[in-house]
Amino acid sequence: MIRASERAMGIEYAIRDVVLPARELEKKGIKVIRLNIGDPGKYDFQPPKHMRDAYCKAIQDGHNYYGPSEGIPELREAIVERERKKNGVDIAPDDVRVTAAVTEALQFIFGALLNPGDNILVPSPSYPPYTGLVKFYGGIANEYLTVEENGWQPDIDDMRKKIDERTKAIAVINPNNPTGALYEKKTIREILDLAGEYDLPVISDEIYDLMTYEGKHVSPGSLTKDVPVIVMNGMSKVYFATGWRLGYFYYVDPENRLAEVREAIDKMARIRLCPNTPAQFAAIAGLTGPMDYLEEYMAKLKERRDYIYKRLSEIPGISTTKPQGAFYIFPRIEERSKWKNDKDFVLDALHEAHVLFVHGSGFGYAGEWHFRIVFLPPVEILEEAMNNFEAFMRKRLAE
Ligand code: PLP
Repeated sequence: MIRASERAMGIEYAIRDVVLPARELEKKGIKVIRLNIGDPGKYDFQPPKHMRDAYCKAIQDGHNYYGPSEGIPELREAIVERERKKNGVDIAPDDVRVTAAVTEALQFIFGALLNPGDNILVPSPSYPPYTGLVKFYGGIANEYLTVEENGWQPDIDDMRKKIDERTKAIAVINPNNPTGALYEKKTIREILDLAGEYDLPVISDEIYDLMTYEGKHVSPGSLTKDVPVIVMNGMSKVYFATGWRLGYFYYVDPENRLAEVREAIDKMARIRLCPNTPAQFAAIAGLTGPMDYLEEYMAKLKERRDYIYKRLSEIPGISTTKPQGAFYIFPRIEERSKWKNDKDFVLDALHEAHVLFVHGSGFGYAGEWHFRIVFLPPVEILEEAMNNFEAFMRKRLAE
């Protein structure tokens, strides 16, 4: 047998791993309500028409060539404007890099920062590619706690305890996947202070920045004075174009402390040639065009969030924190005597209630005895899922 690398064989991705047992059921003709993947395009959300038109036009106009590795200048200009308006950051197009979505930005940033044995502080629970990619690049995902009782805000004392001489950066995901937390301004300031004290850059994932319900998102990029911040964002969530694979990141680095990291990232960017060219024209249309679609979409999402939160609150054996952003809810399993762990719980719910969730431990140790539900589908689908799930819970608890 030709052996694969340990690096690749070691990759785990809970969100897609649970699909295999779901497929087995579906093969037997059983309908499974899948609430595991955060893809708005699978439901009644599409990128706005002006973006779709711009994508088609770019292809018809012949923009089908390799572009610059760092992204086309017009898009980097549009990103500067968007981020100036949203975060008040003072950046230039040269501070911006366009990528194959946030996922490639993570690859560049981790690849450029990590030597074997280095670590990056990542939230627990956290979107799994953070741990997966840090590991892939030879690093250690050093998980800091976020506290459920406190609306899943990061625990700054725990963060401080986890920093050591091999720590290379602090990653912040806000609004958060899987918890739906929205961090307070005070928390962001405390993270920046801590980063400054230990001379660490902050990596800020803002892919859900305009997807908030009650509060507003605050970026560390908008508050930093001297701490270097790398902000990541893209077209996948707020612009509803997950499959286009287009995103960006930029440096807010007033003292130019990231000069070498920038050089390393540019080397990585050059060997992968360039991001998708026509999609960049569509992104320009998205960033500079009207945003009224978002208001309509957020009204739908809020209705779905309120519905699922209400239903989950009425189901015995679990408790739930109300999400403030994104489209995930992360209930806690209170009644634990019936299952071995959260994965056993999720598989039981799949086989018995035919609803597919993701086990919380797949998001890191602080996710244990939780599960993640995506509330993107229309209320009728959520209703059917919750009816099945409620019946399942009542039956199990009575056993
Ligand atoms: N970051 C977070 C926190 C996410 O939840 C996701 C997708 O679910 C991504 C990044 C992936 O983004 P992209 O499609 O831009 O690679």
